[in-house]
Amino acid sequence: MSDPDGPAPRSTVKGVYEMLWDCAYCDARELLGRTHRYCPGCGAPQDPAKRYFPPEGKETVASAAYDGADRTCPACQTSTGAKSKHCAHCGAPLDGAKEVARVQAPLAPKPVAPPPPAKKKESNWFLLTVGGLLLLTCLTVGLVNSMGDGSSGGSGGVSTTVEATVTAHEWVREVDVEALVDRDVEAWCDEVAPAAVVTARTQQARGSRKVPDGESCTLRNVDRGDGTFEKREDCQPKFRDEPVLAERCTVREQGWKVVRTETRRGAATAAAEWPSLTTAEGRERAGARRESWALVLQVPGRQVRCTMATEARWRSVKDGEVRTVARGGLLDGKPCSF
Ligand SMILES: [Zn+2]
Ligand SMILES: [Zn+2]
Repeated sequence: MSDPDGPAPRSTVKGVYEMLWDCAYCDARELLGRTHRYCPGCGAPQDPAKRYFPPEGKETVASAAYDGADRTCPACQTSTGAKSKHCAHCGAPLDGAKEVARVQAPLAPKPVAPPPPAKKKESNWFLLTVGGLLLLTCLTVGLVNSMGDGSSGGSGGVSTTVEATVTAHEWVREVDVEALVDRDVEAWCDEVAPAAVVTARTQQARGSRKVPDGESCTLRNVDRGDGTFEKREDCQPKFRDEPVLAERCTVREQGWKVVRTETRRGAATAAAEWPSLTTAEGRERAGARRESWALVLQVPGRQVRCTMATEARWRSVKDGEVRTVARGGLLDGKPCSF
């Protein structure tokens, strides 16, 4: 079977070894799971639930032949090989006898998370102290402020508004003039129209693809249930990203581009008009239009130009009018704040 996407996960048996068990009745330790069905020291039957995997380097190779997991005698609870029809210990028939439970390989220990840092008692005291100081500061500032207000109450203090006199009206109307110009655009060559004028080609990365890059493997022990276990190697294929190259084309094409802006200005007395355009036939056209309605205001010490939203609102304000505006509310070029 061929796999076009590369290697698949695989699991390989690297060896078959004896499980170990310790006798519960005498000092016999590290007895072999399949070889020693009974304790060589005292003759006690092996308890398959007490089998364990030998430590690394102390494995005893076992025959790979496998008849199935041991079964537990329903009469005396002794385990017997899968092929036996009767219990080797008490002779009871093994019809319907259950397989022994498999021993699980211990899981890799999880990294222990550090305990959360204990809350220090003094931190509460610190917060209380800072809070108290802040409160005290607020109270003090408040007291000083109210005293200040009381003492200067009659004099009035600094005004928050200012008077602005409208001295002139200005309007500006602009039209962009666009021209057909050559420009270079980039596109993938297989997406370019056949008639396009291609001026350059380069190789560039166009996405990526996964390519096989070895595998990562882990070993684990699997209890076969008959006093032996398999050392099994599980491997997952690894992949890395590899750029996919494709041809990138520079295409010369014609497009509209703003080449200049025609402007017309006037005052309130003149009717606002759009600039008259002189465009080269076929090669130029009128583009975006913009207009602005500005009022020139005299405020103490300076002149400000602000803009009105519409011509009608701009005309409704007359030269010589005085408006009260918020101090700092008039900024050059920004909307008038009235
Ligand atoms: Zn024993
Ligand atoms: Zn039995």
